[in-house]
Amino acid sequence: MKKILLLFLISCSVYSQSEYPQDYFRNPLDITLVLSGTFAELRSSHFHGGLDIKTQRKQGLKVYTAAKGYVSRIKVSHFGYGKAIYITHPNGYTTVYGHLQKFSKRIEQYIKDCQYEKESFEVEMFPNTEELLVEPNEVIAYSGNTGSSGGPHLHFEIRDNQERPMNPMLFGIDVKDTKAPFVSAVYAYPKDENALINGKNERVPLRLIPQKTGDYEVEKITAYGNIGFGITSYDKQDLAPNNNGVSNIQTFFNGNKSLEIDFKRFSFDESKHIKRLIDYEYFKSKKSRIQKLFIQKNNPLSLYKNINDNGYIKVEDSTSSVYKVRIRDFKGNETWVTIPVKGKYKVIKKEAQGDASNKSLIYSDKTTTLEAENVTVNFYSNTLYDDSYIDFKVVSDTLHLHEDKIPLQKNFYINYDLSNYKSEHRDKIYIARLYGYYKKPYYVSTKRKGNIISAGSKEFGTYALAIDTIAPTIEPINFQDKKWLSKYRYLKVKIEDELTGISKYRATVNGKWILMEYDYKTKMLTHDFNDNIVRDTRNELKIIVTDNVGNSSTFEATFFRK
Ligand SMILES: [Zn+2]
Repeated sequence: MKKILLLFLISCSVYSQSEYPQDYFRNPLDITLVLSGTFAELRSSHFHGGLDIKTQRKQGLKVYTAAKGYVSRIKVSHFGYGKAIYITHPNGYTTVYGHLQKFSKRIEQYIKDCQYEKESFEVEMFPNTEELLVEPNEVIAYSGNTGSSGGPHLHFEIRDNQERPMNPMLFGIDVKDTKAPFVSAVYAYPKDENALINGKNERVPLRLIPQKTGDYEVEKITAYGNIGFGITSYDKQDLAPNNNGVSNIQTFFNGNKSLEIDFKRFSFDESKHIKRLIDYEYFKSKKSRIQKLFIQKNNPLSLYKNINDNGYIKVEDSTSSVYKVRIRDFKGNETWVTIPVKGKYKVIKKEAQGDASNKSLIYSDKTTTLEAENVTVNFYSNTLYDDSYIDFKVVSDTLHLHEDKIPLQKNFYINYDLSNYKSEHRDKIYIARLYGYYKKPYYVSTKRKGNIISAGSKEFGTYALAIDTIAPTIEPINFQDKKWLSKYRYLKVKIEDELTGISKYRATVNGKWILMEYDYKTKMLTHDFNDNIVRDTRNELKIIVTDNVGNSSTFEATFFRK
């Protein structure tokens, strides 16, 4: 009976799954799969590379290898996936497990040996094929909340042999989902200055009319020329309220395929071009993502299929046509949006172009340098997607570089010349981005070369010079100087640096380096006495913490253990 049900489910799925091994990979946890994040869903600057599996708001759940194989990579980092392990399987695929609390005993020891050898909490290791073999159903780690994780969960990926993440659900990793995706907004866009939507040559919101079936009709629009559409859509699964990503979007114009976006697999190189998929300006002002159902120039995303006229439609005068969007989740639940389009030509008075005299033109395919007295900004070719006029104004040390509403493919570089800067603390000056109403300065990673300081950024905005002469603070949390800590398992210290943030830390006991794990979210450094490094009765602890412009603090204390 179970087999029949399984076959039925597979045949209902969107994709032909025979090309991917089924039932090869198991659920890496031994609880029912409930997701807080789906594959390829839209994140701030990338597509999500895996499944975020809920861990019942707890840490410490057993994490099993999805299949037998060998540990091919281990990465421990402050940010990103935090503590992560990669297992390569005999069939060529690699599974990834992120935000872990800790590893199984054998693997944990392997990592600690490396950490003590390198004298660093952050390590990346590539064990060879023989070193750490894992058997089917072996516990490899415990789930956690390390790195850039906003709450306890397991980040789980399956990658192909070219390191491209794929939807784990293609392999039969199953999640209950009987709900169809929903749509919260639809917009129409003119392709060029001759196109019209409801008489306007601009992005136009369309009125959605939800139907009893779960599908949507859109109030009839009038249009002329080449236009495209954009949609905001999400999918909910049965066992969690989270708004997740959809799996596939297809568009049709008068019954013919216009464009398909298929979120089955991508490469990490292309992930940043999510900025080209979404309406970046709208996202920055409204915090909601419209996915554009047309392809503009300089869009290298591999997610598109069945491309006709880059997804744009051409509307002639006095015609009646229908544009349809079909949105599907991985389980094949689908939602349709139907947009009736009436062709209607209208002469529009071209609005006078805005005064571009105080703006600087940056070509997408050329190198451009903007200069003011003490500041230069370099744009190398392919920094922008489109040739754009941007605001560039320097007042004293403050650089106004447009607003963060034009997407960038890569960094531009800001260079300040500090030659005329009369400050005894010249080496403590850094480049800051000013945010918000109060123009609060945020450190931007700043490099120095003689009197020039430079920083790269992928976001337009306001930048300025700031100075940090304040050293980090170091505060013991669970002990005091000259105390006995025999019964303690952990040594905890809080470290903080308000302006430029912590760049490095080093802790020793009686001159010997000790591993302290750093959690940037709680600002806590933790040493585990079970590392069995601290064995003397009298112990001199010394911790040195340095911020990003080189201010440093030293903390010293004596403690006793027996
Ligand atoms: Zn994740």
